[in-house]
Amino acid sequence: MKRGFYVGRFQPLHEGHEAVLREIATECDELVVGIGSADKSHSVDNPFTAGERHVMITRTLATLDVEAFVVPIVDVDRNALWTSHVKSLCPPFDVVYSNNPLVTRLFEEEGVEVRELPMFNRAEYEGTGIRERMLSDDPWEHLVPETTVEAIEDVDGVGRLQEVASDDAAEE
Ligand code: ATP
Ligand code: MG
Repeated sequence: MKRGFYVGRFQPLHEGHEAVLREIATECDELVVGIGSADKSHSVDNPFTAGERHVMITRTLATLDVEAFVVPIVDVDRNALWTSHVKSLCPPFDVVYSNNPLVTRLFEEEGVEVRELPMFNRAEYEGTGIRERMLSDDPWEHLVPETTVEAIEDVDGVGRLQEVASDDAAEE
């Protein structure tokens, strides 16, 4: 039985993440998905709550043939302690999937096997670019699964992002 671990901020979950999840599901019997920076929300870099991201992830996992556990992981802001923090919160896992150099480095220093996956259309499937599109009212819906579109529309996610990005109302 092999259990894989994959962590992201999923702000929001996009087609690149879905492709990664689909790939890992073929390699592992079970999957642990960590919601990174779970304590962050309502900001330009982290607009969505852990609960809202949980919905995006769970609905995507439901389309895959894999047993999965979704675990919110709050920031500890101490990289040297982060892998212990993750392990303290998650079901035990055998292999980490990551394309993020810091995540890879931290787990490899602990002797954990890390597998890299190909980047899928990174030019478009990137959280930062998708949030920028939302901010400037450009189309973004085609870059995320339909379930993510629904989760974002349910909470007026674009309106929230635009509002938290704007300055305080000018005083007279
Ligand atoms: P942001 O720009 O906000 O950092 P992101 O697209 O990098 O968003 P993350 O939640 O930071 O999304 O990514 C989680 C993991 O998914 C990381 O390991 C990242 O390298 C990987 N990843 C992100 N985009 C893709 C993609 N298009 N193809 C494959 N892996 C991806
Ligand atoms: Mg990233």
